[in-house]
Amino acid sequence: MALQLNFIERITRTPKANSYRFSRPIDFSFQAGQYMLLWPEASGSLVHPLSFSDGPQEDFLEFTKRMTGSAYCQSLESLRPGDQITAKGPLGSFSAEGIAGQIVCIAGGIGITPIRSILAELAHQHDRRAITLIYGNADEEDIAFEQELAALNLLNFQIVHVLQKPISRLQAHAGFINAEIIRAEVQQLESSTFLISGPPVMVKAVESQLATLGISQEQIRTDRFLGYS
Ligand SMILES: Cc1cc2nc3c(=O)[nH]c(=O)nc-3n(C[C@H](O)[C@H](O)[C@H](O)COP(=O)(O)OP(=O)(O)OC[C@H]3O[C@@H](n4cnc5c(N)ncnc54)[C@H](O)[C@@H]3O)c2cc1C
Repeated sequence: MALQLNFIERITRTPKANSYRFSRPIDFSFQAGQYMLLWPEASGSLVHPLSFSDGPQEDFLEFTKRMTGSAYCQSLESLRPGDQITAKGPLGSFSAEGIAGQIVCIAGGIGITPIRSILAELAHQHDRRAITLIYGNADEEDIAFEQELAALNLLNFQIVHVLQKPISRLQAHAGFINAEIIRAEVQQLESSTFLISGPPVMVKAVESQLATLGISQEQIRTDRFLGYS
């Protein structure tokens, strides 16, 4: 069903990523990890899927877009408070629903959006499980939601940063997310469920690293951000 969402505000997350908040229609609900199709222009044909980047418990809807200079990004940037956009959804089945044991989230860049939504919901539910986030970025500037993730009220939660260009301020592994890092940071690999989100090449690379660790397909859930190479 198509909905009209009222734009509230834009929040700068990094030099290359902005969040866009909209008022939440009455009776609208979604599952953390899902996305919507968003048309930022009233009469335009530009449409992209964007994942919810905050939890379903909030009274607003938030989406976070990596800024690429595309026509789509420009139309998001031209939104003014009170403007309306058309949206369809919620869509998608990426979620942490039904996971019995430990959860390992693996995000590549802007692939953090559905994972942040899932983690915000788990924090809201006071989840006590062991949860690890392995978060890969090119450099420090690209880490969206760094403070918000660190402040999540989760009892048994660790964040592992992986940066192609590491810096002294932040303890981080250098390079790309790989089997060695996953083995070093995750206890009880065999009883973990892995939620992987990011550009298709990153998701594929992480899946093959997990295969070398003996992780089965049944332990893996993926969200591929088509449109990014
Ligand atoms: C389920 C899902 C959730 C997503 N969530 C987010 C999110 O939260 N934040 C975010 O920044 N991005 C997200 N994306 C990616 C986003 O929808 C865009 O595809 C991407 O941002 C590229 O759009 P652009 O405006 O930057 O560039 P564009 O110039 O519009 O697109 C770049 C290239 O990718 C192609 N392309 C664009 N979208 C798609 C598509 N959906 N499928 C196949 N090809 C495509 C275009 O034809 C073009 O060749 C998600 C994608 C999917 C499938």
